[in-house]
Amino acid sequence: MSELSDLDLDAGFATRAIRTGHRRTPEGEHSEPVFATSSFVFQSAAEAAARFAGDLEGNIYSRFTNPTVRAFEERLASLEGGDCCVATASGMAAILATCMGLLKAGDRILSSRSLFGSTTMLFNKYLARFGIETHYVPLSDLDAWEAAIDARTRLLFCETPSNPLTEMVDLRRLAEIAHRRGCLLVVDNCFCTPALQRPLELGADIVIHSATKYLDGQGRCVGGAVVGDRKQVGEEVYGVLRTAGPTMSPFNAWVFLKGLETLELRMLAHSGAAAQLAEWLLTLPAVERVFYPGLAGHPQHALVGDQQRTGGGIVAFQVRGGQDAAWRVVDATRMISITANLGDAKTTITHPATTTHGRLTPEDRAKAGISDGLLRVAVGLEDVQDIQKDLARGLSAL
Ligand SMILES: *Cc1c(COP(=O)(O)O)cnc(C)c1O
Repeated sequence: MSELSDLDLDAGFATRAIRTGHRRTPEGEHSEPVFATSSFVFQSAAEAAARFAGDLEGNIYSRFTNPTVRAFEERLASLEGGDCCVATASGMAAILATCMGLLKAGDRILSSRSLFGSTTMLFNKYLARFGIETHYVPLSDLDAWEAAIDARTRLLFCETPSNPLTEMVDLRRLAEIAHRRGCLLVVDNCFCTPALQRPLELGADIVIHSATKYLDGQGRCVGGAVVGDRKQVGEEVYGVLRTAGPTMSPFNAWVFLKGLETLELRMLAHSGAAAQLAEWLLTLPAVERVFYPGLAGHPQHALVGDQQRTGGGIVAFQVRGGQDAAWRVVDATRMISITANLGDAKTTITHPATTTHGRLTPEDRAKAGISDGLLRVAVGLEDVQDIQKDLARGLSAL
């Protein structure tokens, strides 16, 4: 096990984020090494045979296991409070491998309606082809979730808070509903990360990550992860990965491993700045509505502080004047990056109706509450007064 395994149970979050998962080699390196190797060497033909037969533990090939990837997996499993983690090539590969590992033709997914765009596409266009249907319900409406479960429903899937409107669902109660009806609850924890929210402790069965976002924290690599128990994740999901191949590269694992060391500090800094900006936006006449879990007026504000430690780093707001006005705000900013990525040290701004949610029909967009005047800001780690100044410059174009 990792160098901290004895202490792991009592060590705090920050300690585990820095220490868990590294098994120092005889070279005595301090920072975790990158094992840039596709295969591993055996002492003898007999040892090779024993490893392939599964009689002897150890590395064979990096599509199966790699020490740098394993260090990242152990560290993230510890932070999420799960028994097991498998790393994947991207967040989407994590969702695909979870569905392929746990579902079969004829099963149904019940999902929150507001989802990351590619996830909706994966469910509707690709999984549907293999006989897995998905039904959608409004994220925070627990009665709707319960009413929509039928005999074929096997898996409940959600993101909380949602993108971009930061709607939340009570995960403890959703887990109770799922388990009462014999379903698994899968939570995409990309927006909060385990520094702010640990769905497994609230009753969820599986946590999904796009490591591309806050786990990296500086917008460098694409990757993902699935966290849960040894049977579902360690055997079923892992089996799909080692066979089908969307595994994480050792270099990317190393970047994410180092990202985890500062995760808690960063998430608290992102949240502090986002809260300050949300309060300020609320005072501006050009801004019609502000969506941020930390605001007292947010419909699920009561979940902040308990289920979710802080409001997080994402703020959405709606300006008067529709798409034309929203685009003018975006184009008048000078520092903030115009990109749909999030979870970066650099603040980003995006117009969801014409980017992340542009493929939805206008009716579906309206149903999801994505108005033409809506903007999403993923608040970075620059000085908050400079972010505010740039947003004010953007808003002064109205
Ligand atoms: C980005 C994202 C994904 C997909 O992750 P990739 O690493 O881009 O494949 C899934 N869910 C959420 C909430 C995301 O923001």
